[in-house]
Amino acid sequence: MIIIVGAGLSGFLTAYLLQKEGIPFKIVEARNRVGGRINTIYRENEAPIEMGATWFNSQHPHLIALLEELGIERFEQFMDSKVFYQTNPNLPAQIVEVPKNEPSYRISGGTSTLIDTLLQKLKPEDIILNQAVNHITINGKIITIKAEKVFQADMVVLALPPKLWANRITFEPEISKDLREIALHTHTWMEDSIKIALTFAKPFWKEENIPRTLFSNVGPVVEFYDQADTKNSKYALCGFINSAFQKLSKAERKQLVINQLKNIFGSSVTEFSHYEECVWSEDSECFQDSVSPLYPHQNNGNPIFRDTYFDQRLIFSGSETSSRFPGYMEGAVISAKETVRKIVELQSK
Ligand SMILES: Cc1cc2nc3c(=O)[nH]c(=O)nc-3n(C[C@H](O)[C@H](O)[C@H](O)COP(=O)(O)OP(=O)(O)OC[C@H]3O[C@@H](n4cnc5c(N)ncnc54)[C@H](O)[C@@H]3O)c2cc1C
Repeated sequence: MIIIVGAGLSGFLTAYLLQKEGIPFKIVEARNRVGGRINTIYRENEAPIEMGATWFNSQHPHLIALLEELGIERFEQFMDSKVFYQTNPNLPAQIVEVPKNEPSYRISGGTSTLIDTLLQKLKPEDIILNQAVNHITINGKIITIKAEKVFQADMVVLALPPKLWANRITFEPEISKDLREIALHTHTWMEDSIKIALTFAKPFWKEENIPRTLFSNVGPVVEFYDQADTKNSKYALCGFINSAFQKLSKAERKQLVINQLKNIFGSSVTEFSHYEECVWSEDSECFQDSVSPLYPHQNNGNPIFRDTYFDQRLIFSGSETSSRFPGYMEGAVISAKETVRKIVELQSK
């Protein structure tokens, strides 16, 4: 029996691939939902909006191949040729032309479609929610995984960001100092970002012939993009605000966001149906204070994570451990495939 800790894309895909190999497993997840840093919000008659992972491109072949295998479609992210650009709080935003870049894509129906499709292929009894793992004991061939409940396995896969397990899980016997130190100093991609979205009944930007894309050095909104649904028949704008605004209340943030957007897009932007935000630094299953400041992607993909430990019974996985595109969905897919390749190899010995 293999226990996979974490029901994000990496843990979920590991489960799906193990199931295909006929290898028994259970997934143990701290939250009361699956998907981890993938979280699409659905409302009836509105565009699905992404509070977590959203975009990918042609450089992400493992993710694209997975979508194709699962029969999930993708569509191109709309990008204006002219965008609003705000450089200075005392000057109005300018409309500037931007060069055409390689397109990025979104998952049709929202990124959570990928998680929901995998979910449908797994047995409900193999997914155990509301179990935050806090202790792992390795005693010869038996591994005991402690959360609120206690699980036993002969192999465990940690499919969560290294900084999280290094702070939250104790090991008996202890893992090496080097491994723990590196994990404590491994950046978790986007862990302190703030995503916001506004849904609209009508695309006022089309009627008024103005850009719907914004880049700002002023804030609080620093990037804002079209987030219409696949058919471009339900409308939303979605982007990021500066992480420093985490200190404010939701009502204060919302007010500042709307004031800024009204100055740029005009009063039509205030006719939104819903304001949605996600402050990831308030999400305890994603964010973890660092012992010292980390730069983006610090120690991501460190080879120390790709060794197996305790007689090949403990495997570290998750996007941040991937040798390629760590931190991204592509990295999560690569780490899951690599983990299952190792398990199959070990079991066939
Ligand atoms: C705001 C935001 C925007 C992003 N945008 C993009 C994007 O546009 N494109 C892209 O490619 N990537 C993006 N990403 C990154 C992408 O979401 C991740 O790379 C990917 O989802 C990571 O999957 P994972 O399974 O490795 O980790 P996670 O999704 O973090 O999953 C880990 C799981 O482990 C669980 N867990 C944590 N602690 C415990 C514990 N003690 N016991 C049990 N379970 C535990 C968590 O609840 C979680 O479900 C974004 C992320 C965020 C937050």
